[in-house]
Amino acid sequence: MKWLLILLILAVVVGYFVYRYRKHIQTAWFMYQTFRRMKQSRNASQKQVPARDTSKDSELVRCPKCGKWASKEESVKLKGDFFCSLLCLEETMAEKVL
Ligand SMILES: [Zn+2]
Repeated sequence: MKWLLILLILAVVVGYFVYRYRKHIQTAWFMYQTFRRMKQSRNASQKQVPARDTSKDSELVRCPKCGKWASKEESVKLKGDFFCSLLCLEETMAEKVL
């Protein structure tokens, strides 16, 4: 009976501290999760780097629609203009028609 009472008081005290410092605990847990994710993504990116081809430099072209820079291979070419995406190309065509 005595131990049960001590256990109950301990549970109440722990519960009180958890309730009182729940924001701190949440922050700590969030930071722990973020740190873990960062570590995981860093490991993942380290593995991905050799797979990516960085030896060949690709020429950058500026999208006349949105001004975004894109590599020449990835962009959409139309009459000497390079668009970053099909959406920009379509929007430019629609403006020309109207
Ligand atoms: Zn664009």
